[in-house]
Amino acid sequence: MNDTMEEWVRQLATHVNTVEALETFVRVSSGERKGIEEAVKRNMRWGTTPYFASLMDPEDPNCPIRRQVIPSVQEKVNRYGVDNYLEWKENRLTDDVRPDCIARQYHDRIAFLVTDVCAMYCRHCFRKEVVVVRDLQLRFDVEEGLRWIREHPEIRDVLVTGGDPFVLSDDKIAYLIASLREIPHVEMIRFGTRTPIVLPQRITPGLKRVLSGYHRLPIWINTQCNHPKEITEETARAVYDLISCGVNVGNQAVLLKGINDDTDTFQALHQRLISVRIRPYYLFYCEPAPGNDHFRTPVEKGAELIRDAIRGHTSGLAQPMYVVATRIGKIMLMPDYSYVEKNDREYTLRNYKGEFTTLPNIDG
Ligand SMILES: *Cc1c(COP(=O)(O)O)cnc(C)c1O
Ligand code: SF4
Repeated sequence: MNDTMEEWVRQLATHVNTVEALETFVRVSSGERKGIEEAVKRNMRWGTTPYFASLMDPEDPNCPIRRQVIPSVQEKVNRYGVDNYLEWKENRLTDDVRPDCIARQYHDRIAFLVTDVCAMYCRHCFRKEVVVVRDLQLRFDVEEGLRWIREHPEIRDVLVTGGDPFVLSDDKIAYLIASLREIPHVEMIRFGTRTPIVLPQRITPGLKRVLSGYHRLPIWINTQCNHPKEITEETARAVYDLISCGVNVGNQAVLLKGINDDTDTFQALHQRLISVRIRPYYLFYCEPAPGNDHFRTPVEKGAELIRDAIRGHTSGLAQPMYVVATRIGKIMLMPDYSYVEKNDREYTLRNYKGEFTTLPNIDG
């Protein structure tokens, strides 16, 4: 390793993905050892950056960061998961032929998969068949994707994702942005990247040069942060740098059993996010990808958490939209306590505390 290597490259080159490396951060439990053995046997990817590993609790195997990073034998259980989940969910076998790197569920926007590499391999990933288990092989051909977008004038919003597009070099990211900005019908570029959370060192002066400057086409980033422990001074700095480049930063949390499904953690997560200038965007119900059963809650849970921990209890800016991503698009699952009834004269509404009020019915 040479001295000129950028810190983010060094973080990826020293990925924590062996028991020996993990032992320098935590006391590895026998359960974790078994989970890792099983993952290695199944040829699955696992691991994270030394930076993110340093946030783990050294003694507690239930640490929310450890549970997202370290494989579990429970990943073998698949009572509710859908086999070949991505092909089914993304309608890859039934829709018109598209390049592998284009996932489409809507008329005006697409997800553009540019890599299958990540800075961290989340155990709950819904794309795990491509990214973690790798039994679904897709072609990540950027030129093919760009050509398809050029030929589809209805696409105005391109969500660049993967994998994690920010593991690509500055030059490749610059090329992607420049190419998309040359397409007349594209109006906005989004990146889905976990780097502000798991690899904040990625937001370098070089990347800032690539992202910054006023342009007709804005850049929006959504990151993924699931627990308040994931947010540090370095996260705050990385987000500030992105915003200084004119890039908006949002969050897409995943509802995870035993990690963020209690009211205190859920509230702290969303308060911490806005305190470092990240605007909560989505809370995702954990999708039924194979081997994710142990992370999943009842569907109602997310709406209950918004009702009991966010709405009315803290800043409205801290509130995400609760959705489940399905094969027919994302479906809103927000709390439904508010609307009680309507008669000729008025509506009756209920607030987060269960108190009632009325609103005149103008049709009455
Ligand atoms: C999530 C997703 C989008 C973006 O959805 P928004 O609700 O606009 O954030 C677009 N295309 C695909 C295939 C998606 O899965
Ligand atoms: S960073 Fe995203 S794509 Fe990569 S493993 Fe995590 S959830 Fe999956």
